[in-house]
Amino acid sequence: MRLHLPQEGVGDAEAAFEIASEAGCEATAEANAAFHTPPAETPRTPTPPQSALARTGQLEPLLSGFTEEEERQMRRMLQRMDVLAKKATEAGVRLMVDAEQTYFQPAISRLTLEMQRRFNVEKPLIFNTYQCYLRDAYDNVTLDLELARREGWCFGAKLVRGAYMAQERARAAEIGYEDPINPTYEATNAMYHRCLNYVLEELKNNGKAEVMVASHNEDTVRFTLRRMEELGLHPADRQVYFGQLLGMCDQISFPLGQAGFPVYKYVPYGPVMEVLPYLSRRALENNSVMKGARRERQLLWQELKRRLYTGNLFYRPA
Ligand SMILES: Cc1cc2nc3c(=O)[nH]c(=O)nc-3n(C[C@H](O)[C@H](O)[C@H](O)COP(=O)(O)OP(=O)(O)OC[C@H]3O[C@@H](n4cnc5c(N)ncnc54)[C@H](O)[C@@H]3O)c2cc1C
Repeated sequence: MRLHLPQEGVGDAEAAFEIASEAGCEATAEANAAFHTPPAETPRTPTPPQSALARTGQLEPLLSGFTEEEERQMRRMLQRMDVLAKKATEAGVRLMVDAEQTYFQPAISRLTLEMQRRFNVEKPLIFNTYQCYLRDAYDNVTLDLELARREGWCFGAKLVRGAYMAQERARAAEIGYEDPINPTYEATNAMYHRCLNYVLEELKNNGKAEVMVASHNEDTVRFTLRRMEELGLHPADRQVYFGQLLGMCDQISFPLGQAGFPVYKYVPYGPVMEVLPYLSRRALENNSVMKGARRERQLLWQELKRRLYTGNLFYRPA
């Protein structure tokens, strides 16, 4: 199991976890096949009773398609998710469910939705993650938000661009289905801002919805600040959070924290053997991470030179 424990600049704590690593990939892929039905044929998010997660009776038709080992993994995952969500409720800690590859994601989203129905009663405790590099990201966000409105639970979303572009494209090309990723980087940026804008407008009218802008992109942070100001969303209302990975883009996190915005730094936590390969995969997969690191190094050099030339080596900002 791998947890990301965000360190926060201001206020409460929060935790994120990955369902695919909880379940074991086989069970998640199987569950995904079972949950994933094309939107044209059936609604993407049917509404079984709230207790479907807790009472495994509701899942019998699904489980019967599993091997014994997959069934064991799935049951263990459901139990762990339940324990995590209950602990989070007791501690008043938000739980963010990470998004994975499209061949797992419908199952993950479906399970997360069930948790949201059960636990997001007073406030959004469980957050789902939406990957805006997907062509259907806007549909996913708007459908879930509409469902939250209709069913009366509190909407919580973490918006990311998405970390598995190369894998997704390679798999689509290999198997021969349409690439699920937006055709260009610019299209992904536009999709991110479109989804974010939709959620921010909801926040203006709905004090119980919340969003985390999980991005290292400076334009996206600027866009968020501008729209928050235009919509009259105040940082102290704590409906909009910012998230960056620990050790990355402190030039974004620190000024936001100092200006009173809730900012989290994601800390990968777990057995070394699991976390190190995860980190190196992320770095290899994600060119943009390295781009961000280069920008940070350049800013650090700039600041170091400024301090040396002005004789303020140990200067600490107020
Ligand atoms: C707090 C936090 C939590 C995260 N949680 C998750 C998670 O649960 N699941 C997950 O998948 N990722 C997660 N990520 C990673 C995230 O999805 C991005 O990979 C990473 O943040 C880089 O994107 P960016 O928004 O910082 O901006 P940028 O560096 O500006 O954007 C880079 C991203 O743009 C997209 N992109 C790049 N080139 C193209 C192209 N040619 N066509 C289409 N799109 C393109 C890709 O998504 C790429 O990662 C998380 C990141 C953070 C900071």
